Amino acid sequence: MDLTKNIREMALDKGADFFGVADLSSARRFIEEQGGVEVASYPMAISLGIRIMDSIVDQLPHREERSVSVNYRHHGYEIINQRLDLLSSQISSYIQSKSYMALPIPASERYDDERICSVISHKLTAHLAGHGWIGKSCMLITPEAGPRVRWTTILTNAPLPATGTSAPQNCGECSECVDICPVSAFTGVPFKEYEPREVRYDARKCEKYLLDEAKWGVCGLCVYICPHGRNKKIG
Ligand code: SF4
Ligand code: SF4
Repeated sequence: MDLTKNIREMALDKGADFFGVADLSSARRFIEEQGGVEVASYPMAISLGIRIMDSIVDQLPHREERSVSVNYRHHGYEIINQRLDLLSSQISSYIQSKSYMALPIPASERYDDERICSVISHKLTAHLAGHGWIGKSCMLITPEAGPRVRWTTILTNAPLPATGTSAPQNCGECSECVDICPVSAFTGVPFKEYEPREVRYDARKCEKYLLDEAKWGVCGLCVYICPHGRNKKIG
């Protein structure tokens, strides 16, 4: 039985656009600081991604129109996150049926209100699985779709071989996400492993903008503008 092949097929059949396996050993201390000893005890992570529709992201410059914001929040965020959660639940049950541990992490639930983050960073696991690099926007940038992907993670002790290694930074001289942010939430400092996120991104500025200023509580301009997604549309 090829466990990895079966899980990959299950993921792709059920709608994932990205499947990978990350070896977490190089980031263990960082993961423990964020999520605790139990979370950091898992050696591997399955990283799953679903691509957001370009037709929705491309409308974001018009997000002051209510229909644009509603559709981004619904189909660009909530529904894709629900699809990811369903997928990771099904795969976790399958792994458990093979007598291994699997801990699905919700795609969008926040565990730490102070730092505004989850129990583990889905972007970090996607990065370690070889899906792309962490850009100046602090998002995972894929060569295939830029940041136009939502991610989730399943922690596991199943003996799955890692699918890739961390991709090198490829933002170069670009700073489009830094320049377009209406509240200057990004500092423009390139990602360095194990440097705190606060060096690059002030999540409170973004959250405050969405709560108090964005007309319909939606922005996403940093997702829209990245040339690695904008210039790689399907069709
Ligand atoms: S969503 Fe908007 S406000 Fe928040 S970081 Fe991105 S560009 Fe800035
Ligand atoms: S917009 Fe430019 S700087 Fe920002 S993440 Fe994309 S490539 Fe990097």
